[in-house]
Amino acid sequence: MSEFAARSGVQLRPHAKAHKCVEIARAQLARGATGICCQTVGEAEVFVEAGIGDVLVTNQVVDRTKLRRLAMLGSRAAVGVCVDDPEQVELLAEAVAGVRLTTPLRVLVEIDVGQHRCGIEPGEQAASLAELITTTPGLAFAGLQAYHGSAQHLRTPAERRAAMQPAGAAVTATLASLGDRGIECPTITGAGTGTFDLEATSSIWTEIQPGSYALMDADYARNSAEDGAPRFAHALHIYATVVSRAIPGQAVVDVGLKGLSAECGLPTGELLQPARPVEVLAVNDEHTVLRLGRGESVALGQRVALVPGHIDPTVNLHDWIVGVRAATVESLWRVAARSPGL
Ligand SMILES: *Cc1c(COP(=O)(O)O)cnc(C)c1O
Repeated sequence: MSEFAARSGVQLRPHAKAHKCVEIARAQLARGATGICCQTVGEAEVFVEAGIGDVLVTNQVVDRTKLRRLAMLGSRAAVGVCVDDPEQVELLAEAVAGVRLTTPLRVLVEIDVGQHRCGIEPGEQAASLAELITTTPGLAFAGLQAYHGSAQHLRTPAERRAAMQPAGAAVTATLASLGDRGIECPTITGAGTGTFDLEATSSIWTEIQPGSYALMDADYARNSAEDGAPRFAHALHIYATVVSRAIPGQAVVDVGLKGLSAECGLPTGELLQPARPVEVLAVNDEHTVLRLGRGESVALGQRVALVPGHIDPTVNLHDWIVGVRAATVESLWRVAARSPGL
């Protein structure tokens, strides 16, 4: 990903909500990432505490206590946050008043580029919000947050291109409105693992913020890639153990919804030694049910590697990531930003 970003002339700011892990963030920064993204103030606190100097909260924050915590982070690191409402700008100004910031708090205007979740209307409304930021003490207008979450999960390159075309037009229209007001737009950021290649090569976005690519999941593996775009392998597996084979043709393992997320679809599975794919039939609280192939038998205690449907909520269920290379445990990484979540 870092090579692709460099080759495309955009900054890479990986989303740390996918791994919540300081060691992985450091590895991303060591390979050229400009900073990281977080989704919550609680996550940002963990990474700033660990010495990471550039953190963007890609979300709106309005609770006064959380805003105060965000402002305090701004006294230790370069911190950014998104807004889509003039009232949030007032609240931010109140929160940073009297705080000795390392740099003015970076505020990005989030525009709705098609996901219809957060984000102000592109164009005039967005530009007028940016103008308000530029005239508010303690705050700096840092650019546009233009993230299209639902486009990430469209399966074919053609569908994703069709979804991102109006998103690009929305950014361009907003840049024109900013230009009319003489406001410079330093950064246009967005993108995730499903569409990063489109934003990176768009000549519009200046920064991409993919997260899942570092560990990958079964949902993203179902996307077909654009020609020439990098593909990512599954790095994270949940190891489970066969605890029952009483019903012919099936095996049951000891990990379920409390160990992996299935809200973006079932995990994919591999029986190990030797590695061979196995079909996953169902995931319950503490069990995952596998369908065995014709004539296939399994031993009790046999290990199964599961690739979760959705990486972010799966990582959030675990305290540790165990780093394994060639069957040897090489590292233990704490999922340090797991519990804050706030
Ligand atoms: C989740 C998220 C990302 C990263 O998306 P992935 O699908 O994990 O690559 C980027 N930006 C924002 C705003 C997000 O919420």
